Amino acid sequence: MARLFEYQSKSILNKFKIPVPEGKIADTPESAGDIAREFACPVVVKAQTWTTGRAKYGGIKFADTPEEAKMAAAGIIGKKIKGFTVENVLVEKKLDIEEEYFAGIIIDDSKASPVLIFSSVGGTGIEEIAKEHPDKVIRHTIDIHEGLSAYTARNLVRKVGISGKLQMKIAGILVKLYKAAREYEARSAEINPLVRVKSGDIMAADCHITIDDYAVFRHPDLGIEIARELSNPPTELDMTAFNVEKNDYRGTFYFIQLETDFEEGQGYVGFHGAGGGGSMMSMDAVLAEGFKIANFCDTSGNPPASKVYRAAKIIMAQKGIDGYFGSGSGVASQEQFHSARGLVKAFRENWIRIPVVERLGGNQEEKACDILHNYTKDLPAPVECYGKDTPASYCAKRLRELVNKAEIKDIPKPKEEPHNADYSFQTVSEGTVSFDYDKCRKCISKACIKECIPGILNLNDEGCPVLNISKEDAAKGKCTECLCCEIECKFKGEAGGKIDLPIKELGIKN
Ligand code: SF4
Ligand code: SF4
Repeated sequence: MARLFEYQSKSILNKFKIPVPEGKIADTPESAGDIAREFACPVVVKAQTWTTGRAKYGGIKFADTPEEAKMAAAGIIGKKIKGFTVENVLVEKKLDIEEEYFAGIIIDDSKASPVLIFSSVGGTGIEEIAKEHPDKVIRHTIDIHEGLSAYTARNLVRKVGISGKLQMKIAGILVKLYKAAREYEARSAEINPLVRVKSGDIMAADCHITIDDYAVFRHPDLGIEIARELSNPPTELDMTAFNVEKNDYRGTFYFIQLETDFEEGQGYVGFHGAGGGGSMMSMDAVLAEGFKIANFCDTSGNPPASKVYRAAKIIMAQKGIDGYFGSGSGVASQEQFHSARGLVKAFRENWIRIPVVERLGGNQEEKACDILHNYTKDLPAPVECYGKDTPASYCAKRLRELVNKAEIKDIPKPKEEPHNADYSFQTVSEGTVSFDYDKCRKCISKACIKECIPGILNLNDEGCPVLNISKEDAAKGKCTECLCCEIECKFKGEAGGKIDLPIKELGIKN
């Protein structure tokens, strides 16, 4: 879920004609003071963060004069609230609040439907309100084909004891809120509190909207940089990983840095999971060995080798990690040797100097472990691989032993052989496959032909690989980036095949 700031959420409400207090964004104390002067009335200065409970952490302050607003903003901008550094504040006209309510539209996955929640009590979290005042809260599952009619909304508001004009006004807001949530494909849209002010108007005093990850690209007007549920602004690596995922529809790649401020020797591990539940269990196993987790990463849903490669490169870009731990569900239907080849390419390129333990459980796990073992033997750090019958707890224990032993061999990275790209073509994720025909002519195994999983390579008259499909088709995804023409070629052929997979932000070019 991608979270919107309060001011962004309110601009959506505004678009749907739900009244919000007059307000403007300020990124300096001076501009906060100027806005207060322009409003010529008491204001509230509110930290714009994705975290909840801002008031408790000093992120919401009232000011009666421009000078007070400036001081309030000075105390908030730059402050860390639950790890989130505040960059700007919303300065709003203070409301004369008479009564508070809660209104929300939330997607209930168990019902596969949006649910309207309204409470005639507002202010605190809806869970607390429901606990303390169960009779004041109504929930209504909305049929998306029918929508929410004004009649239904009025009936619901009536059930919590609100009648007359007020009932009409609130029902009108609920109908508009549902329309806004639907149009923006929100996972949740909460107005808390929805308030009745002295004039009798109903206004959204605070609002938080989250957008479904998969809908973000349909709403460029929101300017969401990263479709992830974060409590902090994304790090550079978070953004790098998100761009990889955004540009490659195959499988799932999720990466979030959990800690950035650490050094070698502090016990941080780069974590590479596969599948939500198994990854959680594996993270617990690592923590039980006294490690700390630098990042969460998940590559699942049949990712190509190239995606696993990019994930591993991003994990290893975290400076100061002491080990690399990969472990997932253990019953994956995906063919694990794809992941193994992706990992081999990444570990070899980085000439990895931290111990690696991989639990590549699932389909073809024996082949996956053979690839990982056999193609990393010459690296400075040990790389171990286990299948589903080895518990994650044992794998984490092995990583602990390897990290404690710290037996990293002093083997310099061999100089890269020159590679002439005599024949090349593009791949679907902007990679390039190329062949050095001088090497290919000498090659006896022709491993690339045998191992190319979609079988798109043939030999030409000189005994060198060429596509048996058009270059356009290869670039559309017929070349699945299985990496065989580099990895298998290196160990079974003459190293004439190469695949470059750019990650621009890491400086890995095509
Ligand atoms: S295995 Fe490698 S060296 Fe041999 S023909 Fe294929 S790409 Fe060329
Ligand atoms: S050409 Fe074949 S072997 Fe090479 S990456 Fe593409 S699919 Fe794999």
